[in-house]
Amino acid sequence: MNLQDVGEFGLIKRIRKRMSASDSAVIQGIGDDVAVIETANKALLVTTDILIEGIHFDRSWIDPYRLGKKALVVNLSDIAAMGGTPKYFLISLGLPKDLSLSFISSFYRGLKEEARRFCVDLLGGDTSLSQKIVINICLLGEGKKKDLLFRRGAKVGDDLFVTGTLGDAALGLKILQKKGLMRGPKGLIERQLSPYPRIQLGQAIGKRRLATAMIDVSDGLLIDTTHVLEESGVGARIWEERIPLSRLYRKWMHFYSKDLYQMALCGGEDYELLFTAPPEKRKKISALAHSLNVPITRIGEILPPQNGFYVTKKDGKEYSPSRLGFEHFK
Ligand code: ADP
Ligand code: MG
Repeated sequence: MNLQDVGEFGLIKRIRKRMSASDSAVIQGIGDDVAVIETANKALLVTTDILIEGIHFDRSWIDPYRLGKKALVVNLSDIAAMGGTPKYFLISLGLPKDLSLSFISSFYRGLKEEARRFCVDLLGGDTSLSQKIVINICLLGEGKKKDLLFRRGAKVGDDLFVTGTLGDAALGLKILQKKGLMRGPKGLIERQLSPYPRIQLGQAIGKRRLATAMIDVSDGLLIDTTHVLEESGVGARIWEERIPLSRLYRKWMHFYSKDLYQMALCGGEDYELLFTAPPEKRKKISALAHSLNVPITRIGEILPPQNGFYVTKKDGKEYSPSRLGFEHFK
């Protein structure tokens, strides 16, 4: 057996089985968007994400300034998914020796702007020679233990909500990679190059006790829903036609697929929040959406585990998703 037989998530499951944390202060180890450690006052949050040239980005379509911003955003989004507050970060870089200093300077300019915007401080890192650019950030944050939202809290009967619109970043990537169309609208490309972490919204959902479980949509709606279902031990149904799509996505998706929902279901990197909440919270959730001016859409429901996970199409046909979304090594 090799890595492609088990895939990224199969590998993480194996690691998790062997390496469970022993310290009683660990509230959450492997298995959520961030690790959570109990401290005297607040919970400490820790997360890390890697971006590798040729895998996550290409220098032909992303400039160093945006790359610097995005490297931090993908980590900020995981803190948002817990309802936490980001605080400090470390950055490790693998860099080729012929890389220009101006590239690095623009990268740090983007990184600094994003760090200022979300009030996080860079505390250190590591630097090494590498054939391709490798960027790894480890971000620390904090939150009140009772405000935090885990993947494991979804209950049978809960609604399933998602913020913003889905599929835009994946469609933007296809346009950037010139897979299909040579050119496309800026709005879709921007969703891929300059994602936004839903920090304020995540905190509001946590503080107001509006949700039972939450995750950020980084790998794709189907795969990230599966993570919540597995951790919570429940099933779910998603109504396909309720999935929120942007005007640009609706206009451009047909160049890529006959299936309008394909990238909204399986495409990653939208960095929206997916959460579950009991039906009595619907009014408060809709009020929050209005007050923060962010669309929040009810797209599904949580079912008993024996029902499994399926998607209901407009014509009433149902299917259990098999090809879920992006997974490394698969
Ligand atoms: P996310 O998409 O939210 O960043 P991942 O799917 O990358 O989450 O990771 C899921 C969980 O597995 C997290 O708890 C993460 O810390 C953990 N994890 C990922 N890779 C490894 C690894 N190589 N060793 C140990 N834990 C890992
Ligand atoms: Mg995540």
